[in-house]
Amino acid sequence: MMGPAHSLSGAAAWLGVGAAAAGIGHPMPWPVLVVGALICAGAALAPDLDHKSATISRAFGPLSRILCGIIDHLSHAVYKATRAKGDPRRNGGHRTLTHTALWAVLIGAGASALAVTGDRWAVLGILFVHMVLAVEGLLWRAARTSSDVLVWLLGATSAWILAGILDRPGNGSSWLFSGPGQEYLWLGLPIVLGALVHDIGDALTVSGCPILWPLPIARKRWYPLGPPKAMRFRAGSRVEVKVLMPAFMLLGGVSGLGALDLI
Ligand SMILES: [Zn+2]
Repeated sequence: MMGPAHSLSGAAAWLGVGAAAAGIGHPMPWPVLVVGALICAGAALAPDLDHKSATISRAFGPLSRILCGIIDHLSHAVYKATRAKGDPRRNGGHRTLTHTALWAVLIGAGASALAVTGDRWAVLGILFVHMVLAVEGLLWRAARTSSDVLVWLLGATSAWILAGILDRPGNGSSWLFSGPGQEYLWLGLPIVLGALVHDIGDALTVSGCPILWPLPIARKRWYPLGPPKAMRFRAGSRVEVKVLMPAFMLLGGVSGLGALDLI
């Protein structure tokens, strides 16, 4: 899928978690719902950091372009090192390492560890990166036509304001994990979820997605998981733009209302 569909599916997924959490008696305070949905929308772009022309590789100027090159090489090296007999040879690392469930969990756990052990700047940093990505993904056209600096400013201001709101007592810095020193431990959850939703979205496209690496399936370690061929679509196709994206908006909207106990 393309950036906007990934981000919308990420936001909708977190709102769905919010509705489920409310259903089992662990309702999210509204800032957790909103910030989580934005983080998840941003995190749903992150696996494509292995691809030069992806939205995320352009989001932070030269910094993300260099990181993208490194991730591409790393992914390719890991692919070559762990390839089984049935896995084809390939030239680049796109849709390999960063498109696995293991990667999603590692990135999320890393973010949680950073948020809990770091100071306020660590939380602000995580929020800033994901707010910029959320803007790039959700306001795709607008972000494309405005300057990068403007998008970064928007990301920085919203990170600052949202951290201020979350910090107020009862507003959610200690949602789900309420022990001493566990503030912001939950920040990793929307990051794991975003990456997983991205992988599932890619699995629905023609080339599939090796989500379960390194589990061996049919003599492959990088088995491209996906539904039967007839149910798959091309990235950026009409199905994605005309059917899936409106469906994500509708599901996200209904779940959001459910999460806030409004329906
Ligand atoms: Zn992808």
